[in-house]
Amino acid sequence: MLPIERSQKILEWLECEGNLRISDLSKRLKVSEMTVYRDIKPLIEQQKVIKTSNGVALSPPIKKPAYACSYCYKESNTRHSVQIITIHQQVEQTCCLHCGLLYYSEIEDKVSQILCKDFLHDTTMSAKLATYIIGADINLNCCQPQVIAFESMKQAKQFQKGFGGEVYQFSNAIGAIKQIMNGSCPCTDKVKVDNNNE
Ligand SMILES: [Zn+2]
Ligand SMILES: [Zn+2]
Repeated sequence: MLPIERSQKILEWLECEGNLRISDLSKRLKVSEMTVYRDIKPLIEQQKVIKTSNGVALSPPIKKPAYACSYCYKESNTRHSVQIITIHQQVEQTCCLHCGLLYYSEIEDKVSQILCKDFLHDTTMSAKLATYIIGADINLNCCQPQVIAFESMKQAKQFQKGFGGEVYQFSNAIGAIKQIMNGSCPCTDKVKVDNNNE
């Protein structure tokens, strides 16, 4: 068997069996352990396999490149990210619900589904059915005002008792984010006050 054939075999076995001992490989291939090491060296260099404590194993799948948020182009974090599926079956992702809802409002007629996660349970749900809290006292390290979603209105209200913020439905959450960002919300009148001080 040629070295290339042996490394092909090693890969095949690893795909079925996960990991293999060097001594096993040496027996199966009927070559010395030294030769096995030589055979797997290029595989390690190509990052197809990794050395383990007792042999070799397939490399874990390479992490997919991080998605960029379709709205603000920040790296979209999976924990809070929102998926928007368009009528053309394209999947877009935003970093958080803040961007998810604003992006939705821009491309609304092209959206087939918008999916987000329940803040407490991490379950995926349709964003249109969620209850939202905007401006709660938590730090998501993402866009302001922060928007979080709940599957149940009851839990959203309970959360609000502890962490503040305002409760919204899908239909009025988008308007609320825009209002807060424009500073026209009664609770952000601070901007106007500052201007008067000049
Ligand atoms: Zn974003
Ligand atoms: Zn964000």
